Amino acid sequence: MTTLFEKIIAGQIPAQIVFQDERVTAFRDINPQAPVHILVVPNKPIPTAADVAPEDEAVLGYLFIVARRVAEDLGIARSGYRLIVNCGHDGGQEVMHLHMHLVGGHRLGPMLPRR
Ligand code: AMP
Repeated sequence: MTTLFEKIIAGQIPAQIVFQDERVTAFRDINPQAPVHILVVPNKPIPTAADVAPEDEAVLGYLFIVARRVAEDLGIARSGYRLIVNCGHDGGQEVMHLHMHLVGGHRLGPMLPRR
């Protein structure tokens, strides 16, 4: 089944794309949780972090390169930001196409809510 993010990558669903090449697409989250909230997505639809395979090593590393570049482009490289990958049900993953959240633009709270 085609994922929502595959449709965005293919241009079938509109999104505010901030970076795209043959391997990775980065676009603004539709429901931003911070002044800057970007999703950095491998064009290849790996469902979750629990599904990564040895052949994905290069593109997974490249996600960090793209995140760094987008953070610089959007002016948050010096102030700092957080990179998040949710995995599966308990991780709160809603879209089953592996993606990295790049969030910043103000001081973020604790990494997890206090119990
Ligand atoms: P996750 O919970 O880690 O799977 O994150 C999925 C993210 O996708 C959420 O932050 C949603 O707000 C975001 N999202 C869902 N639909 C869209 C869309 N059409 N365009 C951009 N972001 C979306």
